[in-house]
Amino acid sequence: MARNRVVNISIIYTRAVPSRNEQGEITNWFGTKTEITEQIVAREKLETVQEELRGSLHEIEQIREQQHIAISQAKLGTFRIDGENKIMTSSERLKEIFGYRPDEEMSYEAAVAQISPEHRDRIVQAVKDVFEKGADYDEEYTIISHHDGKKRWVKATGKLYTSEGSPMGHFSGTLFDITEQKEDELRKNDFIAMVSHELKTPLTSLSGFIQMLDLKARKGDQSPSGTIIEKAMNQVRKMTTMINGFLNVSRLESGKIHIDSVRFDMKDLVREIEEETVAANSSHHIIFHPVQTTWVNGDRDKIGQVITNFLSNALKYSPAGTTVQVACVYKEGNSQVSVSDEGQGIAPNDAEKIFDRYYRVENRSMREIAGFGIGLYLCAEIVRRHHGRIWVASELQKGSTFYFAIPVTE
Ligand code: ADP
Repeated sequence: MARNRVVNISIIYTRAVPSRNEQGEITNWFGTKTEITEQIVAREKLETVQEELRGSLHEIEQIREQQHIAISQAKLGTFRIDGENKIMTSSERLKEIFGYRPDEEMSYEAAVAQISPEHRDRIVQAVKDVFEKGADYDEEYTIISHHDGKKRWVKATGKLYTSEGSPMGHFSGTLFDITEQKEDELRKNDFIAMVSHELKTPLTSLSGFIQMLDLKARKGDQSPSGTIIEKAMNQVRKMTTMINGFLNVSRLESGKIHIDSVRFDMKDLVREIEEETVAANSSHHIIFHPVQTTWVNGDRDKIGQVITNFLSNALKYSPAGTTVQVACVYKEGNSQVSVSDEGQGIAPNDAEKIFDRYYRVENRSMREIAGFGIGLYLCAEIVRRHHGRIWVASELQKGSTFYFAIPVTE
C-alpha cells in the first residue's frame, strides 16, 4: 500500500520592532518569532478549496444555464413541491399549460382539481408514493385548462430530492404538453382500424368474383366472363387508389415527395380537370367560372391532385342535385383556386383541424361516407411546398368553399 510521506516543514514568522530613546533615535531592536506553519497550511488549503469551489460553481452555473435553455426550448413546465408543507411552486410555462396567467397563483389543490376524474386518484397516489416511498414519478394524464376549459394531455416526470439538511426533501419535476402527439396517436389508431376495414370490403368482393369464375370454369361454362372480370378489376382499382393514398402519406413524411416545378397556366389545368370531372359526373351540377389566366411555377400534377381532391370532397359531402362551383382567379399576387359546394358544411372548430393528418369530422352522416382523413392533409402539404396558402370558409348546413393560393410568376 502506498503511503504518503509526511514532511514537516516549520514556517517561522520573524518580526523586529525598534526601541527608541527620547530623541527618537533607535537604541535597540526587539525580535519576535512566531511559528505560523499551521496557519499558512490552513490558508493554502482554504485557498485551494475556494478555487475548486469557484470552479464547481461556475460549472453548476453553466449546467443550470444549459438546463434552463433546454427547458424553455422544449417548452417544459417545471414544478417543485416542498416535502414539509406540501406547497407547490410552478414555472410560468407550467401555469400556462394549466391555463393560468403567469401572475396568477396556482395551488397544488387547484391543479389536482383540474385533473380529469378518470386520472385523478392515480396521480394523487403517485405523488404520495414519491414522498412516502421515494418512487419515481412518470405519468400521462388529462387536465381541464383553467381559463378556457380545454382538455389537454400532459406528461409529467419527477422525483424526490432529499439532503442532510432537509430529510423531507422536495419533489421536483417537469411537465410537458403532449396533446398534439396524443391526438395524433389516437387518430392513427382509428386510421389503422379504418384502413383494415376499408381494405377488407373490396377484398371480400374480389374473392367473391374469383369464386364465381372458379365455379363457372368447373361447370365448363364457356359464356363470356367480361362483366365479372370488369367488376373484379374495379375492386382492384379501388384498393390500388387507397394504397397509393397511404403510400403518399408515408412518402411525404419521409420527405420523399418530389416537386417537379414547371411554368404553367393554372387556367389550362383547371380546364383539363373540368373536362374530366364533367364527363365522369352525373350527380351534381358543376360550374367552372370564372377562370382567368394565371402563370405559376409548380408541380402541375400535384397541384392537379389538390384541385381534384377539393372537387371529389365537394361531390362526396354535398347532396346529389346541388351545385358545385370552381373558380380560378388572380388575387393579390396569387393564383387562387376555389371549390364551393352546397353541402353539410364544417363547424368552426373542425375547420381548424381538417388539414391535419387522419382528421375526420365526427358525426352521424360522416360515418356513412368512406374516407381516411388524408386527402386534405396531402393537399396542405403540397400547397405548403409551393409556398402557398390553403384554407376553408364554411357554414353548417349551407356549404363550404375550399381555397388554395400560390404565388403567380411573371
Ligand atoms: P376524407 O374525405 O378521406 O375523410 P379529407 O382529408 O379529404 O379526408 O377530408 C377530411 C375531412 O374534412 C373529411 O372527413 C370531412 O369531414 C371534411 N370535409 C372535407 N371536405 C368537405 C366538404 N366539402 N364539406 C364538408 N366536409 C368536408
